Amino acid sequence: MILLRQVQLYNPLPQGLQDVLVAGDQVVAIQDKIDPGSLLNSVHVIHGEGRWLVPGFIDTHLHITGGGGEGGPQTRTPEIMLTDLTTAGVTTVVGCLGTDGFTRTMGNLLAKAAALTQEGLTAYAWTGSYQVPPRTFTGSIEEDLLYLTPVIGVGEIAMADHRSSQPTVEEIKKLAASARVGGMLAGKAGVVNIHLGDIPGGLALLQQVCQETGIPLSQFLPTHQNRNTYIFEEAMAYGLAGGWMDFTTSTVPQSIEAGEIPAHQALAKALEVGVPIERLSFSSDAQGSLPNFDEKGQLVGLDVGKADSLLESIRSAVNLSGVPFHVALQTITSTPARLLKLTSKGSIGVGLAADLVMLQPETLDIDTVISRGQVMLENGTPIIGGTFEECKK
Ligand code: ZN
Repeated sequence: MILLRQVQLYNPLPQGLQDVLVAGDQVVAIQDKIDPGSLLNSVHVIHGEGRWLVPGFIDTHLHITGGGGEGGPQTRTPEIMLTDLTTAGVTTVVGCLGTDGFTRTMGNLLAKAAALTQEGLTAYAWTGSYQVPPRTFTGSIEEDLLYLTPVIGVGEIAMADHRSSQPTVEEIKKLAASARVGGMLAGKAGVVNIHLGDIPGGLALLQQVCQETGIPLSQFLPTHQNRNTYIFEEAMAYGLAGGWMDFTTSTVPQSIEAGEIPAHQALAKALEVGVPIERLSFSSDAQGSLPNFDEKGQLVGLDVGKADSLLESIRSAVNLSGVPFHVALQTITSTPARLLKLTSKGSIGVGLAADLVMLQPETLDIDTVISRGQVMLENGTPIIGGTFEECKK
């Protein structure tokens, strides 16, 4: 059992000073004051005075097995390690393949999701890669959703991008229909995670698919909607029409100079035009490759997307874009939980998952991370590492 004492609770809405008791992998009590009484010796007490307690972060789009490869085999990015996530406050992930659905396989993705789950996180997977028809594990989207526990939807399917398989409207219709029916039968979200490229019109195509099929717009989760100004303009119309808006947080200065809108600015603008926070989310694209050019435009190296860009974007939303903390926080907690239909995640409540992050209020630095009831990080230091990491207990 873990007792977090006198934390400022964000649920993600502010709940004031509370004691929070964890037993097993769940939160079992939240009260003004909890007296552990005779249980004191078996309770791990964490003093939360002066700290904020928020739900563990949910990252809906990251390349847990590594991604990239667009510059040749030497540009394939490395797989993610447990502490890359825990030090970033991320306790739930949805891993994806990417451009490379050939040397990267669904078997590899499922094994990595299983590894992260064994190591203490909650890890899901999108079935498929950029290509349509998607590269599934069983050969069928419906059967992947039905029989493979970690699979909660399809993705990342590339559209409006020179690296996509140039899917037609009819192909997207069939794919969305499979995801929808598979999701219904399996009791899962069955969402289609779309990689939105630079070519205008991708979001309008999704709207056309929905108009012609009766499939709701919420079936699609298009990401990278902040990738440039004209895509972002289209995205705002899409958000106002009822679609999810997902902004990528990993970036490099060169991309921002080339017109990418930082996720925190995209969030502030979308809120300003009236897109509800309930439909706005951030995802990190961690382990995706980020090309790094010098001032002459020569490729001088590759950076890799980082999971900690999620919290960095929350910090920037609060400090640079004037978004209230409890509003910005929803983009990586309650909104992704709702869109993925993860009813025990993204919030802090009795009976819900004990996925908790304790923050320093002034800096929003991470103090403590608890995932499925296990302390992964305390006083800013990982105390549980991945199998091949040094801080292994
Ligand atoms: Zn992508």
